[in-house]
Amino acid sequence: MTMEFTDRVSRVEPSATLAISALATELEAEGADIVDLSVGEPDFPTPENIVEAGKDAMDAGHTGYTTSAGILELREAIADKLAADGLEHDSDEIIVTPGAKQALYEVVQSLVEDGDEVVLLDPAWVSYEAMVKMAGGDLTRVDLSETDFQLEPALDDLAAAVSDETELLVVNSPSNPTGAVYSDAALEGVRDLAVEHDITVISDEIYKEITYGVEPTSLGTLEGMADRTVTVNGFSKAYSMTGWRLGYFAGPEDLIDQAGKLHSHSVSSAVNFVQHAGLEALETEQAVTEMVAAFEERRDLVVDLLAEHDVDVAVPEGAFYMMVPVDDNEARSASDASGDEPRADDQAWCEGAIEDAHVATVPGSAFGTPGYARISYAASEERLEEGIERLAEEGYL
Ligand code: PMP
Ligand code: GLU
Repeated sequence: MTMEFTDRVSRVEPSATLAISALATELEAEGADIVDLSVGEPDFPTPENIVEAGKDAMDAGHTGYTTSAGILELREAIADKLAADGLEHDSDEIIVTPGAKQALYEVVQSLVEDGDEVVLLDPAWVSYEAMVKMAGGDLTRVDLSETDFQLEPALDDLAAAVSDETELLVVNSPSNPTGAVYSDAALEGVRDLAVEHDITVISDEIYKEITYGVEPTSLGTLEGMADRTVTVNGFSKAYSMTGWRLGYFAGPEDLIDQAGKLHSHSVSSAVNFVQHAGLEALETEQAVTEMVAAFEERRDLVVDLLAEHDVDVAVPEGAFYMMVPVDDNEARSASDASGDEPRADDQAWCEGAIEDAHVATVPGSAFGTPGYARISYAASEERLEEGIERLAEEGYL
């Protein structure tokens, strides 16, 4: 039989980040030595105390369903963490999800329907676009590539993009894929526009714990934002728990009520013993500090290595990504002239880089910003050095 698929799923592409990572894994299985700088996943093991807490929870029999929104102890611990960031939420204003991705999905499904206008700041993480499209929303995108990915100098562009028709704005600081951390003045600009046009804002703070010398402000702490901000966070990045699938969102109670229905009818709850491990994670400081220090060293290493090849990047202040300009590179043009396949755009650059140099990166166009490749520097210094060297040798830098 021929199945008929909904527009909802037909109009989106698979996640580019996960697709490239799958390709890298496939090539590795065929014996290739791939330097995988594609997927955003810390290369550290989950800290031992968190793993132990997960095992202990299984041994203690925490293997059944939990309350749909998540175990109370974890929601209370999350409320305490948010309070430390200046965000006031009761435990019943929090839903614990299998990953921050599911949190975002539930929020978007609850707020966006056919024809609703949603504004993204480009480059924007791949799944926002897909989630909005699946909900039937229309996207307006504000390009930050002309302002070194900073929002403050682009506030006029944002002001021009929003209107009373705008339903939702997504802010992700520190940003995936740029590593930019938006200034307080930028967030105040967002607040003014959100209040003026009565816009709900998702503040995706999944990289908040991974910053280098700056303290990102949580958008929901600004005056006028408490009842229009949905704060999303998760355990994948800060605690190196990508495969555990644990995240959450906090927001006004009426949103929690509506999204809670979707949550209970789809995932039921996050995994019971994983939630117990999450409790332990929130108590973990030393291991996080060490991972962040390592990321900072790697950032500096990659920035320096790229500079040696005359490639300048906007230096990230958070997360573990950077955007490398790839569309106007002399060395690459020279290698193109030598008879290799022309690599005209970022898609072709990334395809060529994985085929020729065996280095996996993600094209900027997947994030709405062609002309760049995203590097994830959540890899060892040795692999980062190897990757940059190979890219240079093959004429990609
Ligand atoms: N938001 C951003 C900006 C991300 O980069 C990711 C990474 N996957 C997520 C949300 C979702 O993370 P997870 O589902 O692993 O918690
Ligand atoms: N957020 C990570 C990335 O951008 C993980 C992959 C994904 O969830 O899409 O690479």
